[in-house]
Amino acid sequence: MINIPNPQTIYDLPKLNTIMKIEPLPDFVKMGLLHNEHVTHGKYSVTELLDHPRCTALRKIHPDLKLDDPTKMAHAMNGTAVHAYWEKLLTQKCNPACIQCEVAVFFKINDIDISGSIDIIHRKSIDLLINETTIIDIKNWTSYKWMQKDMADVIDQLNSYYYGYYLGKSPYNHQVKLGLLVFIRDWHRGASHRKNYPPSSLMYLEFAPKPMEKIKENITKRVKLFEDYKNVNIDDYPDADDKATWSRLEAYRVYKVGGNNAIRGGVFRPEDYESNVECLAATEEKMNATQLANPKEEYYFKECNTERKRCAEYCPVADMCNTYQNSLKESYEAPQKEVPV
Ligand code: SF4
Repeated sequence: MINIPNPQTIYDLPKLNTIMKIEPLPDFVKMGLLHNEHVTHGKYSVTELLDHPRCTALRKIHPDLKLDDPTKMAHAMNGTAVHAYWEKLLTQKCNPACIQCEVAVFFKINDIDISGSIDIIHRKSIDLLINETTIIDIKNWTSYKWMQKDMADVIDQLNSYYYGYYLGKSPYNHQVKLGLLVFIRDWHRGASHRKNYPPSSLMYLEFAPKPMEKIKENITKRVKLFEDYKNVNIDDYPDADDKATWSRLEAYRVYKVGGNNAIRGGVFRPEDYESNVECLAATEEKMNATQLANPKEEYYFKECNTERKRCAEYCPVADMCNTYQNSLKESYEAPQKEVPV
């Protein structure tokens, strides 16, 4: 059940002379938050196959569970809203011979049904002799997600759509491209000079699809991975990895022994460097230089990790998941990771 704010809660909002009383959410808001736009018809959806088997399996075991905090749901709906806005706009304003939105794909791999939904199919021209089509996926990412440069999953996703859409149709004499339309939801102009930061709040990429046989091989591998666990108890599934749980190194921070805060200029974020190794090297350089300049003090650095964000904030089955529950126990019991000079 959705957890509604307590109607008795009183909030004193700055710049408002009145005291506001927060009422329970109206029914239509609850309906919107609980509505599941993306219903899977195949045994697996293309996006489920890209996820970690544990995360997909646990959600399938508990299909009735939803996030119970409406504020988190509302945040997750940002992406849904961006999709809905663009799909509605394009459907209303563009020639349907050139633009189609939310196109369902359905195909079989080794007799297993796979389904998916293509955000946009764009034909360059209504002239049938100009056979140029782009299969486009819309993403609503943070700048951090962009800077990770991890496009493997979206490339696989688009290739799967291409495979499903053109299966049984002859792509003969037909030029197909794959496109990615990325909205950067936390984009700041002031940060756009930073290395790897997206130069614009809206990014568009195009690339060529992989050969059909290669795509089929990749999807078959993923399906096999999921099917191999079919009869395994969910507690015996392998732990979900950092990618699936959205766990990441936030920064290395340099401290003076006895200090509570990182020293000035002592915070090093991986997104500001080409690689984690470079970031670590810069941290060590700062620590060593500071140590040299202040021999009477002692300095060290430590890794500051963000929590498993997906598990903590966006996963309705987190209470039943050993990966997450064990990690909570470990982080409670483990001493802070420090590297003394
Ligand atoms: S809690 Fe985390 S690891 Fe477990 S199913 Fe949810 S997202 Fe996956």
